[in-house]
Amino acid sequence: LFIDQPLADGMELRIEGGQAHYLLSVMRMKAGGAVKLFDDRTGEWLGEVAQTGKRDLIVRIAARLRDREAVPDLWLCVAPIKRGRIDWVAEKASELGVARLVPVATRRAVVDKLNAERLRAHMIEAAEQCERTALPEIADMVSLDALLRDWPAERALFFADEEGGTPLAQAIRPGPAAILIGPEGGFDPAEREAIRAVSAAVPISLGPRILRAETAAIAAVSVWMAAAGD
Ligand code: SAM
Repeated sequence: LFIDQPLADGMELRIEGGQAHYLLSVMRMKAGGAVKLFDDRTGEWLGEVAQTGKRDLIVRIAARLRDREAVPDLWLCVAPIKRGRIDWVAEKASELGVARLVPVATRRAVVDKLNAERLRAHMIEAAEQCERTALPEIADMVSLDALLRDWPAERALFFADEEGGTPLAQAIRPGPAAILIGPEGGFDPAEREAIRAVSAAVPISLGPRILRAETAAIAAVSVWMAAAGD
């Protein structure tokens, strides 16, 4: 269970809302029951249900089980895409251990807004189900121009270009990295040129078939994680 505050030994927490419903009605927790909690800061903790009410319960933190896991230094920069599809990207990015999701505004994007709170809720749910102890950070939406202007030279920018590039598996090198994926309509020619002009940019291919934006994002992260993400 994700708790959005730093956890510590002996702490007592009142759990309410959807989390209380899950523990009381789905897991049928009673006083004395054990529950695992994480806070994305200090790691994973064992909690003991001290008291149950109709719609809430008190959990006492009993012991630390694990430190917060180390997350591979990979950013996923994606143009926002339609609701269900970007939610899916957020969920899978959380499962795969992406450090940071960076929404990037591009010219051909169909969607120009993003509900970061909703994305975070999907990330939390995926992390809880997969026993993760860390969540991806969600950056503020940034224009492609601003992203490229301030690009940190030491971070490889793997630019997924459906028109061709080095196969990602061959392009991966150690160190901080980011994957950049275009929107439904792809990047326009001027954008592709601007991306290629960044010294850290490495145009990469995900194969000869054009993938939907969300598939490209998760395929690229999977390949990078399998090769470099320990
Ligand atoms: N129109 C489809 C959609 O609605 O999702 C396809 C969109 S594709 C143009 C979106 C982005 O996915 C591209 O800008 C690129 O970053 C990435 N992409 C898709 N297929 C790719 C491939 N084979 N190699 C590299 N990048 C790819």
